[in-house]
This record gives sequence, structure tokens and C-alpha cells, in this order.
Amino acid sequence: MLQGEEYSVSLKPDATRNGLTVRDSTLVVSLCPATRENFDRFLRDWYRRQARKTFQAAIARWLPLFAEAGYEVPAPRLKIFAMRRAWGRCYYTKGLVTLNLHLVKTPPACIDYIVLHELCHFVVSNHSQAFHRLVESFLPTWRETDAQLKAFARAHRVIG
Ligand SMILES: [Zn+2]
Repeated sequence: MLQGEEYSVSLKPDATRNGLTVRDSTLVVSLCPATRENFDRFLRDWYRRQARKTFQAAIARWLPLFAEAGYEVPAPRLKIFAMRRAWGRCYYTKGLVTLNLHLVKTPPACIDYIVLHELCHFVVSNHSQAFHRLVESFLPTWRETDAQLKAFARAHRVIG
């Protein structure tokens, strides 16, 4: 599962090194050595790199919009963890955002929405009305996206 799309994984066990190419909706994984352990580690690392790339791109899309609207939001440090319950967290005093590794499995609109949510905490720390007004000023349809994310997570047992 990646950005809301389902992929199957096919193995090329006779490779000379680890590698991965995406062909239509198949992840073709080359492994050397072709062990379960190597497969698990390689795929986990690949997922993590995809997540970092995807989340950083979302942050880079939102930040100029905050600046345009007159808010000073720093480019945060980003940490990625596989979390059970939360999609993300903003440590606004530390300039740090943590995001759930599993978020990369969800549709792009959901990723954008969660990244926006965490960045908004640099302006309003709590979940007050002012916070939701701020989110809404950037993403008027956030309630629908929020519902979409919850439905997706339930349907695909992503977290929880
Ligand atoms: Zn929040």
C-alpha cells in the first residue's frame, strides 16, 4: 500500500544486489541474498525513504502558503516512526514534527491534510476553534479529508 494504491510485490531472487523498481502496480524487489530477513529489512528501509520523500514534499508545498498568509512557520525537522494511534505530532517549541510511517500508505490528500494539521500547530498549539479556523483557511474541505482518512484507516487496518 502506497499513497492509497495497492501494490503487489514480486521477487527477483537471483540478483547481484538489493534493488526495487515499480512496474505498474507491482514492486519488483531484487534481493541479494534472497533471505526473509534481507527482504523485510530492505522493504522497511525503502518504505521509510518513500515516506520521508513524500512527507518532505508535502511540507515544502505548505510552507510557502503559510508565509504568503503572513505566518512564520519554520521548516521543521522531521522524524518518522511507526506509531499505533497517532498520525503525527508537532513539538512546536522544538521545531520538530513527527509523522507516522503508515501515513505514507494513505491517499495523497490525506498526507497533505495531516502535514497541514501538524504545521498549523506552529501557529496555534491546541485544538481550539482558532486552530480549526486556521486549518480551514488553508484547506476548506478538511472535514471530508479527515473522514476519508478515518475510513481508509479502518478499511485497510492501517493504524488502531
Ligand atoms: Zn493536532
